[in-house]
Amino acid sequence: MHSHHSHSGDYVAHGVDGLEAIVTRVSELGFDVYCMTEHMPRIDQKYLYPEEITGDSSADLKLLQQKFIEYLAHATKVKNRGLRTEFIIGMEVEGCDLKHIDYAQSLMQRHSDVMKFCVGSVHHVNQIPLDFDQQCWYQCLKSCGNSVRQLMVTYLELQFELLTRLKPQVVGHFDLFRLYCPNELVVDSRSGERVPDGSEFGVRVGELSLVEQWPEVKSLALRNLEFVACYGGLLELNSSGLRKKLQDPYPGRDFAQLAKQVPGTRFVLSDDAHAVSQVGVCYDQVLEYIDKVLKLDNLYFLCETQSGKLCVNSMDLEQVKSHPFWQRFQDQN
Ligand SMILES: [Zn+2]
Ligand SMILES: [Zn+2]
Repeated sequence: MHSHHSHSGDYVAHGVDGLEAIVTRVSELGFDVYCMTEHMPRIDQKYLYPEEITGDSSADLKLLQQKFIEYLAHATKVKNRGLRTEFIIGMEVEGCDLKHIDYAQSLMQRHSDVMKFCVGSVHHVNQIPLDFDQQCWYQCLKSCGNSVRQLMVTYLELQFELLTRLKPQVVGHFDLFRLYCPNELVVDSRSGERVPDGSEFGVRVGELSLVEQWPEVKSLALRNLEFVACYGGLLELNSSGLRKKLQDPYPGRDFAQLAKQVPGTRFVLSDDAHAVSQVGVCYDQVLEYIDKVLKLDNLYFLCETQSGKLCVNSMDLEQVKSHPFWQRFQDQN
């Protein structure tokens, strides 16, 4: 089995367990491929999270830089240990804004001997964290004229900038705006604007298809997905959505079905673990989703050649389902 996206408490403030403990768990579960993808350092103090702020912002930013270098060194040690699992080193992009996207590009170049790929992720809308907590999500909404439609449009536009500038090998949590989007939120079915309950065109978000409701959202999502397929990017099915109690992994079924219709779309698995307990978390539910909801024929995964060149491999769904991983997964959960 595989995961293309993970973190550890050693190198990100909101992580729980250290990298060594995560690696041990990965080995116990017998992953074939496990990608370590710590967040790249943010370079502007306005993007520091509360748990990173000590009052000396230049020291706080410097610490992010230092931890990232330490991460690369530690990940290299893990990789060179010759464990049965193939560990691949990457990073998760912080697509906060264009400056950060360009910085990601320079980091990839600078560390290309170690870092083989990146997970292209957007975590901000109008410079406000989208997935930090409910309050921040509402601030994102407010910055988008209180319109869920506009919030998705703004996110998808920034995502497109990231995709075109970086061509990330893996696209992270494609529809992250879903995380704190309350099902019971009432919006105008035409504009997507938040309206009082009982308004003439008011409808609950949970009753809408976020893809089909607004043609603009659908066409931007399609544009992004087609671009990913066209440069050979991989779309992750990220089980952290389920861990955070969404109905589906990212992307949810409406965006995932849309992606499936795009010729050349290739799905890969990710757990986005930040703790030992999150390694392979909810993979049984993801398998069910792949099999029964998306009805995929196969899954893709990254591997590295002897000479350190990244390549993409695939497994048909029957192989995935009969993989010995599931026995260990059942025994240990
Ligand atoms: Zn992320
Ligand atoms: Zn992540």
